[in-house]
Amino acid sequence: MVDGLLDRLGVPASAYTKGNHPVHTPIDGSLIASVHLEPAASVGAKIAQAQQAFEAWRNVPAPRRGELVRLFGEVLREHKAELGELVSVEAGKITQEGLGEVQEMIDICDFAVGLSRQLYGLTIASERPGHHMRESWHPLGVVGVISAFNFPVAVWAWNTTLALVCGNAVVWKPSEKTPLTALACQALFEKALGRFGDAPAGLSQVIIGDRDAGQALVDDPRVPLVSATGSTRMGREVGPRVAARFGRSILELGGNNAMILAPSADLDLAVRAVLFSAVGTAGQRCTTLRRVIVHRSVKDEVVARVKSAYAKVRIGDPREGNLVGPLIDKASFLSMQDALARARDEGGQVFGGERQLADQYPNAYYVAPAIVEMPGQTEVVRHETFAPILYVMAYDDFDEALRLNNEVPQGLSSCIFTTDLREAERFQSAAGSDCGIANVNIGTSGAEIGGAFGGEKETGGGRESGSDSWKAYMRRQTNTVNYSRELPLAQGIVFD
Ligand code: NAD
Repeated sequence: MVDGLLDRLGVPASAYTKGNHPVHTPIDGSLIASVHLEPAASVGAKIAQAQQAFEAWRNVPAPRRGELVRLFGEVLREHKAELGELVSVEAGKITQEGLGEVQEMIDICDFAVGLSRQLYGLTIASERPGHHMRESWHPLGVVGVISAFNFPVAVWAWNTTLALVCGNAVVWKPSEKTPLTALACQALFEKALGRFGDAPAGLSQVIIGDRDAGQALVDDPRVPLVSATGSTRMGREVGPRVAARFGRSILELGGNNAMILAPSADLDLAVRAVLFSAVGTAGQRCTTLRRVIVHRSVKDEVVARVKSAYAKVRIGDPREGNLVGPLIDKASFLSMQDALARARDEGGQVFGGERQLADQYPNAYYVAPAIVEMPGQTEVVRHETFAPILYVMAYDDFDEALRLNNEVPQGLSSCIFTTDLREAERFQSAAGSDCGIANVNIGTSGAEIGGAFGGEKETGGGRESGSDSWKAYMRRQTNTVNYSRELPLAQGIVFD
């Protein structure tokens, strides 16, 4: 299923055959490759090489560093179809979403190229005569990237393109569930390096490994920044370990994203947004819509319309024009069933959620997306189950809706559907949604790369991608220069 694809993407057969780690496609559960898992012990050697590369790369002018990223964007454009297809085969995304993920990589390349001619600091007024102050931004060193299975290529690109224009080297530990797309990204990056010509060896490296390899990256003091994307469980382990050695981390963890659906909402828009946000990527996005907090006066109509839209959703092979592909694996299916059982125990009424196409694909896990009407925000609703389960709760007044939006441990994405300006503004105000993303009349998923991406509370607090997220990949230096013939002290201190 993948040999031809990998060949066109430049991955040698030796990298994905005869390895010790089987790779199965979630499409039908068949074995498609076996990669070599690197032992944690080999991580140190890669970090050492990246450190050497960094020491050369930091001296290359930033716009020239941007040229490498521009070339990488060019290579990605040439291979968009193949890489998108590989994302579908390995992660189970439908074709449109596989292509969309590669487009996101291309977009962040463009963003980073522009950034390479900015990386601006400030000039600051000095209180002392004949002095000036400024703020400079310098490269950090080796950036460690740990990524999740559900965005197997874009998250790496968000981090790597910014890290590279900022003058850093990168060592990437992708999910053990998606090693092939990582090998393909590495091969495409090497193609760009070939066109660039004189980049230092080992500038961006990939470690195909499991959690132990990730931990070796996390614990290494030569890695000043670890950007880790995955579950809150993973972040709970990674965050304190990096902090214990005074490293920095960008944590991009689980979400539990809600929509407030107000009585004035345009219901046509809202129902379409629910559908894309809740069932897209089979409910396996960090920004997937998991809760609808709907005004009691429109609840029955909304539930009826969403159920009818769900009943029409085409489920099946993600490459064949369906809207919902498979779950990543059996464990994911079981955790979905477990959550539905708990929801029933907690008073929920479940619609959908059953396994689909089991005869055709006994080793793959397709499900009907589930809608669960809940009597309130019970324990199971407050937990992120990484599958297409949409909990629906009714509200009576707007304060209650806002409270429900915020009363979960996670704080990634949120949205409101309303045509009432007061509600929309309150939702986005200081006393409104407590999430990193708060949208009006747009669903919770499908962010553009231009904005900073990330969330609060158990989502980890990190920001990556657009806006000024690049600052996390650099160290800030405050510079004061005295061009006078005196040595005045700050705060008027006399020290004669
Ligand atoms: P996961 O936490 O199981 O694994 C993520 C990565 O962390 C993998 O590469 C894994 O090998 C590594 N890892 C796990 N434990 C580790 C440890 N102790 N030390 C170092 N590395 C470790 O997550 P997953 O199942 O691949 O992805 C789904 C989760 O990711 C969901 O919770 C989802 O919300 C979250 N996610 C968040 C974002 C975001 O931007 N906020 C984006 C995508 C996915």
